[in-house]
Amino acid sequence: MNRDGCVDVGAFEGACQCGAVRYSVAPGPAKQTVCHCRMCQRATGNAFAPLMEVENDRITWAGYAKTFRSSNVAERGFCDECGTPIFYRRIGQDSTEFMVGTIDTEIDYRPVANHGIESRRGWVLELAGLTERETFFTEGEEIVSHQYEHGS
Ligand SMILES: [Zn+2]
Ligand SMILES: [Zn+2]
Repeated sequence: MNRDGCVDVGAFEGACQCGAVRYSVAPGPAKQTVCHCRMCQRATGNAFAPLMEVENDRITWAGYAKTFRSSNVAERGFCDECGTPIFYRRIGQDSTEFMVGTIDTEIDYRPVANHGIESRRGWVLELAGLTERETFFTEGEEIVSHQYEHGS
């Protein structure tokens, strides 16, 4: 892993929605970037991928992430049960880039670079100026999550 732009992060853990795939990462350097490229958009079903790159030898897996070979140079890991995108990895590289939304541990995520800006959606730059509210529930409505809860 190229250490340019890396910061040291503490140990963290993550999981897919259903908890069939979980991982833990030992402390060490991490590269935090946001990728707006067209392939990350399609792979995440989203406008961009917030990524946390760490060395493979610091990762402990519980469960199996299926991979899709999204190009000749990369594969993307996801949960075969619930479909959550979990990581991006260059083939043969000694590091894995986790989708930050799968991380359970409170981390101070501060990306240092935007990648793939040729495909960046213009509205992404305008998000900070939009009106805001917390998650909305109808009064009397009870939401029961079926997602994995860290520590359960
Ligand atoms: Zn899952
Ligand atoms: Zn990308």
